[in-house]
Amino acid sequence: MRVLILGAGFGGLELSTMLSEALGDDVAVTLIDRGESFVFGYSKLDVMFGRTSAESVKLPYAALVKPGVRVLRETVKAIDPEARSVTTDAGTYEADALVIALGADYDLGATPGLAEHGNEFYSVAGAERLAALLPEFDGGRAVIGVCGAPFKCPPAPSETALLLHDYLLNRGLREGSEITFTIPLSTPVPPSPETSAALEAAFAERGIAFLPGRAIASLEQGEVTLDDGTQLPFDLFLGVPKHCAAAVVRESGLLGEDEVYIPVDSRTLQTRWPGVYAVGDVAQVGVPKAGVFAEGAARVVAEQLIAQARDGGQPEGYQGKGSCYIEFGAGRIGRVDVDFLSGPKPTGEFREPSVALVEEKELFGSSRRARWFGL
Ligand SMILES: Cc1cc2nc3c(=O)[nH]c(=O)nc-3n(C[C@H](O)[C@H](O)[C@H](O)COP(=O)(O)OP(=O)(O)OC[C@H]3O[C@@H](n4cnc5c(N)ncnc54)[C@H](O)[C@@H]3O)c2cc1C
Repeated sequence: MRVLILGAGFGGLELSTMLSEALGDDVAVTLIDRGESFVFGYSKLDVMFGRTSAESVKLPYAALVKPGVRVLRETVKAIDPEARSVTTDAGTYEADALVIALGADYDLGATPGLAEHGNEFYSVAGAERLAALLPEFDGGRAVIGVCGAPFKCPPAPSETALLLHDYLLNRGLREGSEITFTIPLSTPVPPSPETSAALEAAFAERGIAFLPGRAIASLEQGEVTLDDGTQLPFDLFLGVPKHCAAAVVRESGLLGEDEVYIPVDSRTLQTRWPGVYAVGDVAQVGVPKAGVFAEGAARVVAEQLIAQARDGGQPEGYQGKGSCYIEFGAGRIGRVDVDFLSGPKPTGEFREPSVALVEEKELFGSSRRARWFGL
């Protein structure tokens, strides 16, 4: 069986690992990514606040050596779902199963003034720029804002507000600073009222002004305008850009009119083309854009392909469940266990911030580093 996986992020890494573990050399997996390394999304916050360097959080694809899997550093230029064939900057590949796991891109140009007057912290390059810029900030008005939904890891901007509070406190700048946090969602973590209440209480305790239900509409030098017309002057702006599907996805006829991400069957992750799947942030499946969901979806596709290769079994469908760790600052991490698809509406269960959960999050990262990269 020839399996072509586009994108070696959370989804592509988990899928290729499972196929290799189950089928070894009986499967021919080609995993294509334009980058040379993988970085956990949450590591960007560590980089931005100077807790680590970008170099030390990069997991090189060169370390990914698994039976049945070849990794190609190429850029995908065209996808033909009908023929299950893909063209890159280096060649053309055909497959029995094609899995699109290209994640979501950022569209900085969609928010006027963002690129010129703000700083985004959602890319490694953006986090690195901020790591250099934050030490020069000597206090004042800080605004953290999100330019549109859906966006990756809904709790991440809340975490940023709490970590910025700690950062300014440690540098003796908190008293002379204001932090305002605005988000287009009605609450910080909509499926879990308990988690949202805990985050809102943490903002209130720290004097962080929280403006829900509002997106960043535009920026000018030193001033941001929200989509309800509110204007907020700032000395420091930390932003989450609008997200979109990668250009190659938009240009390959994978999206119908009004579709922003690839629609899939929420149980099987199959697209409208047989043998073509989409997992993770690139797919429209009714779950948030987060690594744990990309990984869960990849597992479901892997189970189906393994069953096909072994000629049997009907694996259980995708459940849309996942646990997200949330930095509350002051050295504590909380957790929310969310379930999007198994009940009539999404639910979320909250675990109080603790030091034990800091260790659990470390284990989350180190276990994947070991399983995917052997590091
Ligand atoms: C600040 C921040 C904090 C986060 N925290 C968490 C967290 O705590 N927990 C969590 O679960 N999630 C978190 N996330 C979200 C998480 O990082 C993403 O949702 C996750 O990486 C999505 O996985 P994916 O496999 O769909 O895509 P990605 O991991 O984005 O992988 C897509 C891959 O496709 C490649 N690619 C794209 N276009 C092309 C092309 N044309 N040719 C070749 N390759 C291409 C990219 O190089 C990339 O490696 C966070 C994100 C951010 C930004």
